[in-house]
Amino acid sequence: MRTILLLLLSGIWALSSCVNSTENDSYTNPDLPVEQRVADLLEQMTLEEKVGQMTQIERGVVEITTIRDYKIGSVLNGGGSSPGDSPVEWANMYDSFQQQALETRLGIPMIYGTDAVHGHNNVKSAVIFPHNIGMGCTRNPVLMEEVARITALEVAATGIDWTFAPAIPVTRDERWGRTYESFGETAELAEMFGAASVKGYQGDNLANTATIAACAKHWIGDGGTSGGQDRGNTLTDEETLRALHMPGYVRALEEGVATVMVSYSSWNGEKMHGQAYLISEVLKNELGFDGFVISDWFGIDELPGDYTSDVEGAINAGIDMVMVPFDYEKFITTLISLVQQGRVSEDRINDAVSRILKVKFELGLFEEPLTNRELLSQIGIQAHRDVGRQAVRESLVLLKNENSTLPLSKSMNIHFAGKNADDLGLQMGGWSIYWQGGSGDITTGTSILEGFEELTTTGNITYSRTGLGTAANNADVVVAVIGENPYAEGAGDDQDLSIFNEDLAVIENLKNTGKPLIVILISGRPMILENVLDDADALVAAWLPGTEGAGVAEVLYGDYAPTGKLSLSWPRFNAQIPINVGDANYDPLFEYGFGLTYN
Ligand code: BGC
Ligand code: BGC
Repeated sequence: MRTILLLLLSGIWALSSCVNSTENDSYTNPDLPVEQRVADLLEQMTLEEKVGQMTQIERGVVEITTIRDYKIGSVLNGGGSSPGDSPVEWANMYDSFQQQALETRLGIPMIYGTDAVHGHNNVKSAVIFPHNIGMGCTRNPVLMEEVARITALEVAATGIDWTFAPAIPVTRDERWGRTYESFGETAELAEMFGAASVKGYQGDNLANTATIAACAKHWIGDGGTSGGQDRGNTLTDEETLRALHMPGYVRALEEGVATVMVSYSSWNGEKMHGQAYLISEVLKNELGFDGFVISDWFGIDELPGDYTSDVEGAINAGIDMVMVPFDYEKFITTLISLVQQGRVSEDRINDAVSRILKVKFELGLFEEPLTNRELLSQIGIQAHRDVGRQAVRESLVLLKNENSTLPLSKSMNIHFAGKNADDLGLQMGGWSIYWQGGSGDITTGTSILEGFEELTTTGNITYSRTGLGTAANNADVVVAVIGENPYAEGAGDDQDLSIFNEDLAVIENLKNTGKPLIVILISGRPMILENVLDDADALVAAWLPGTEGAGVAEVLYGDYAPTGKLSLSWPRFNAQIPINVGDANYDPLFEYGFGLTYN
């Protein structure tokens, strides 16, 4: 009797799933236009399933059935959050999350996002490229496109679909801790490099296995806050906002950028996460953005009022997906109840979900949801590192070169000193393996010092941290590699951009040798050089070059002449900040676009 009943039940089940699959035919059919697939799928979705699509959670809270049970649409890893040291562990994580998504009633794949902001920088052994501030100095958008293409390939190799890049702030005050995430202080650089990045990440076709979705961030005005305060207030009229902070987005949209992230900052006192005018009206209606808008991490929580009004305000402002990132249950129940109360309309939900599904279809996630593991062997390969090296070379800005101190001969005995000379972590900066970055050999790469060791012919390359001792006195030239320690976001906000005392001591010690002194500055922004510039015979701004430190040696040895041009104006002293090209009484130490070469 029991068996008959079971048989009967399973017969009914088979019949109903058969009916389902014919209904499902149209969204699962890759030959149909994306619009039709979206419409078909949307029609079959419950409110709960729709809200799930709008929910992005951090990988750390994903348990064995979380994505399946809550119909979660997206997962991210925060900066430094990682499943393990090897790329294959990333791919395994991705596939296990995707399996859960595929087990949901409608089998809608999740989309996974990561901050691959200068290479696949959360993954050990991936190539880490110079941060954007250095890329801006290359003035070479073709190179930027290639860097982004390689990054996309390395990201795709771990299964991941989407990078939260490019950041395209126009940074107007280098006291801001995110200055290095910006291509520079003008709209022109945001346009040129933002567009090139989007092309490189997304390629011609998002569905290609080695392309990923890009994310222009942070909409809008994040680089214009008063005092360079992170998450601060951008006080400016609409005309200036449009002229300075918007052109980068216009170009990124022209290149078809799939997503846009909203800024933590405010515009004239009102948080961007609640700015219906700028998100819905300007970005979506006026500029015609048809991808989806993602919030920043806990970004909606910073809106005034309680959590319910945060969700209501953010979704009604036009945010399509929320980077929750932890308490998904609270977000989901809050949004569902807001819809049931009529405080968020079904239309708004349908618009958000359609945009998200559109990107998922375009990425080909329904056809190829799992990692293409054939790409794994390409992570960190030499060909990619070579492009990294080129980017380092082209990002260097030669600021001073008295008596043709540079280039150096490869047979010279060179003494290096300073904390930044032989430290991979320091030369990569923030957003490198860890959110705030780290120190030492935290991934595979070549330090600046190692680059010289690699390229010298008969020269003796020595190092001391302080520049004291006989090695310095016996050298032909001495090189101080000084600058900042890593930081990210608000932790890098700094009112005082003076050179550290430890670094000044190194300069003094090296100066006392009486040898020609070269200074290499490793930093995410200009630093105040008043005490250093006179002492140095040559000075190079190397920014945050990433893992391929040998690019510095290639230029200092004269294999390549320096070509980098400043992506921002270099202030003389702290009180001169903010200083930007076009200011009245513009009198920087080095102007925007400055950069020497050899002759
Ligand atoms: C940053 C974003 C980043 C996100 C996810 C936020 O704190 O502002 O730029 O994409 O975290 O890591
Ligand atoms: C995360 C970052 C995020 C930041 C925001 C960190 O814990 O790892 O990804 O940007 O929080 O404050």
